[in-house]
Amino acid sequence: MSILKKYDFIIIGSGCAGLSLAYRMIKKEYKVCILESQKNLLEKNKLWSFWDTYKNPFSHLSEKKWDKMIVKKNNKYIEIDCENYKYQSIDSHKFTNFILEKIRTCNNIEIQCNSEVVDLKYHSNKVLVYTKDNNYECNHVFDSRPIKRNIKMWQQFFGAYIRSDEDVFDENKPIFMDFLDTKNKFHFMYVLPFSSKYALFESTYFSSEIEKKYLDEKYIKDFLKENYNLSNIKIEKTEAGRIPMDTLISGSCNSYITKIGSYSGATRASTGYTFINIQKQTDKIFSSIDEIYKGKYKGKKYFHSFVLRKMDEIFLRLIEDNPEYMKNALYSLFNKKSHKSQIKFLSDIPNILDIIKIIIYLPKTKFLQ
Ligand SMILES: Cc1cc2nc3c(=O)[nH]c(=O)nc-3n(C[C@H](O)[C@H](O)[C@H](O)COP(=O)(O)OP(=O)(O)OC[C@H]3O[C@@H](n4cnc5c(N)ncnc54)[C@H](O)[C@@H]3O)c2cc1C
Repeated sequence: MSILKKYDFIIIGSGCAGLSLAYRMIKKEYKVCILESQKNLLEKNKLWSFWDTYKNPFSHLSEKKWDKMIVKKNNKYIEIDCENYKYQSIDSHKFTNFILEKIRTCNNIEIQCNSEVVDLKYHSNKVLVYTKDNNYECNHVFDSRPIKRNIKMWQQFFGAYIRSDEDVFDENKPIFMDFLDTKNKFHFMYVLPFSSKYALFESTYFSSEIEKKYLDEKYIKDFLKENYNLSNIKIEKTEAGRIPMDTLISGSCNSYITKIGSYSGATRASTGYTFINIQKQTDKIFSSIDEIYKGKYKGKKYFHSFVLRKMDEIFLRLIEDNPEYMKNALYSLFNKKSHKSQIKFLSDIPNILDIIKIIIYLPKTKFLQ
């Protein structure tokens, strides 16, 4: 028989957003329950990379930090200077274990795995949360579940962690985008070299269609053979996924429920970067947690500003209609002496001057059209 369990807050989902929020809640007295549909919190592994543009409590978990990146097209390449905002990566298992360790030592947060939320209802100023086996009641729900919506474009990728016996990778130069010859597709290779012998190679598409071609181990192996003359390699693990790229995903917030994470609009539509936005969103929520508890706070509808969403809409439309044009446009965006404005733009912190520079750096005809 199902029992009614009572909490102050319920967090649906123990992914990046759910756990980032739970970590902040350790410092509060509120009784919190995290409901997660998966059996095990370490089922899927991801690597979250970002430019260091926002102070967050997880920086010390970074695998490696880089102060340069490469953009490649045909046989040319550009070196992007990231000295001011170092690029870095956090392994999701390391992140989860770090937070679980902290949660274990506090007595206000519980995690229930194997608890898929199937329904939410409001009743007498409370929210009732239903899973298959249990009923819960709380003042407010933070919800990181995916939404049902026709997503305009997906960032789709297959990555393989490659171990080589030889010193073949330049560990100081990750490759942000190596545009591939796949005609009429926005397809590139993303490479993160953790050492001279160990690197992540990720075949990536931005596309409204579901892509299958070149998203597998064979493609990565062939790429390594052709570009690095490497055939004796070991694939230690793989990561695959898709990230929604859509400017219309919004966080429907009310007195009882706040959407969080990727499907609240925290994912930047034109890039897929989300990790740092989740940290900003979580800090904002945490600073208003007492008002949220009393039902007196409503967040913003859209995470990103109107200007950034408009610019992203243009980027996405051009990627869809004219991928070859966009590959050249992005190459020329980085083909400048300074890269600070570009990184600030990609990391969602451009000021008006940076935006003007981005517009000047891009080929004008199609963008202005
Ligand atoms: C493979 C991969 C690599 C990525 N790399 C980067 C990167 O390098 N940099 C970056 O900034 N972003 C990256 N992203 C994008 C983004 O940072 C991640 O998707 C991030 O995990 C989003 O966090 P989230 O909490 O919104 O969603 P998730 O981490 O997906 O968490 C949602 C959780 O909710 C649970 N859930 C769903 N439905 C229910 C339900 N009904 N009841 C209970 N629980 C439920 C899910 O099981 C899941 O655990 C990547 C995404 C993927 C997929």
